[in-house]
Amino acid sequence: MALDVLVVGGGGREHALVRGLRRSGRIGRLFCAPGNAGIAADAHIVPLAADDLPGLLAFVETENIDLTVVGPEAPLVAGLADLLRDTGHVVFGPGKAGAKLEGSKAFAKEVMEAAGVPTAASALFTDYQLARDYVHQVGTPVVVKADGLAAGKGVIVALTMEEAEAALVECFVDRRFGAAGDVVLVEEFLSGEELSLLAVVSGRQILPLAPAQDYKRALDGDAGPNTGGMGSYSPVPAVDESLSAGLVEVVVRPTVEEIARRGIDFRGVLYAGLMLTPRGPKVLEFNCRFGDPETQALLPRLRSDLLELLWCAARGERLPDAVWAEGPAVGVVMASRGYPASSSKDDVITGLEEAARVPGVEVLHSGTALKDGRMVTAGGRVLTVTAVGASFAEARRLAYEGVRHITFDGALHRTDIALRAEEWERAAGPSGRSAAPADGASKKGAGRG
Ligand code: AMP
Repeated sequence: MALDVLVVGGGGREHALVRGLRRSGRIGRLFCAPGNAGIAADAHIVPLAADDLPGLLAFVETENIDLTVVGPEAPLVAGLADLLRDTGHVVFGPGKAGAKLEGSKAFAKEVMEAAGVPTAASALFTDYQLARDYVHQVGTPVVVKADGLAAGKGVIVALTMEEAEAALVECFVDRRFGAAGDVVLVEEFLSGEELSLLAVVSGRQILPLAPAQDYKRALDGDAGPNTGGMGSYSPVPAVDESLSAGLVEVVVRPTVEEIARRGIDFRGVLYAGLMLTPRGPKVLEFNCRFGDPETQALLPRLRSDLLELLWCAARGERLPDAVWAEGPAVGVVMASRGYPASSSKDDVITGLEEAARVPGVEVLHSGTALKDGRMVTAGGRVLTVTAVGASFAEARRLAYEGVRHITFDGALHRTDIALRAEEWERAAGPSGRSAAPADGASKKGAGRG
């Protein structure tokens, strides 16, 4: 039976989801709300905002949608999945109670503590003066985090006391994050390699996805300000099969057990942002959905059926295995002038078709629009060029070849996405990836492309 699917969201992550779903043999009609100009080529666009909960429910009912896949965190935290489930619909994405793992950092800490999951030491504050006293007591560097959702801007890594105090003023005095900053976590600063660990979770079942790494800083060499993400790659050669299995047991399983014990039936993605410190792995944050831009590197490598996987997870059925391409994927984000401080609209984009013709390349749109029949920029992050290759060297070469075809005024991108992985691969010698094993799943991979 073909399934009619609605994807909620309108960025690069949702474009990757739409492309993945389209590859399924079971896909019927495919909708995306609100989507974007690039997604419009792959799905029917529904002009409803991702946070228009009643509108989305009405659409699901009118169109008899079989499965709704929720991309962003905000509608999940607001209860979109509960609203749909309570009216008998099938949804991929946790309800409010599960999404709280992302929606409240204090709640996530409480769950981790109860579950014995290693995380950075932290203290909670609702008062500026007490928080300030504490920061002076522990010293810098220190990390200040708004408890609630703050569009990725609520985490301030303060290297100096001035920065730490300014961060507390932003939260408590200027109320830059509104109610999301009513509670503030002051957290121990950790250093090490960062890693995104994503798993599809359905009740107590866990299907780990291939490890991925993303790049948060705007400029090469991890310089410049934090962004929503400038690129990603998957798998991660530094994370071998036993490390990745170990991380699932130490982080994902106890968390899943703890939330199940609390009566939360989590059906969606549990994403752990980790720091691999010299004293072992520690969780920096949980997300309750696919990552952006990691998803743009993850899903183009998926060779098994994405719809089948999301459908089974959403219905609480046995999860199928995931099969990945043998080779890695590299995704390079192209952003508009001024990003991340500002962004530029209406710059005409050319070369999209040429880029998509490069073998192994997919162009996934994040912030684009159609204006007078031409594709233009419509956001900070404009698109991701992802390539799957036989090696990191090849995937990087192909992705950057795609990037070179695409032009728009003021276009920005990093030139060192997955360079570390390529260097690792080169150092591992001719046997390459087997000497520096990547994810285990790729070994079972029945590569199609
Ligand atoms: P989060 O939204 O919690 O992942 O934080 C955003 C970024 O801030 C992370 O990707 C890290 O680079 C950094 N960060 C968060 N928490 C810490 C920490 N405790 N120590 C060092 N860096 C951190």
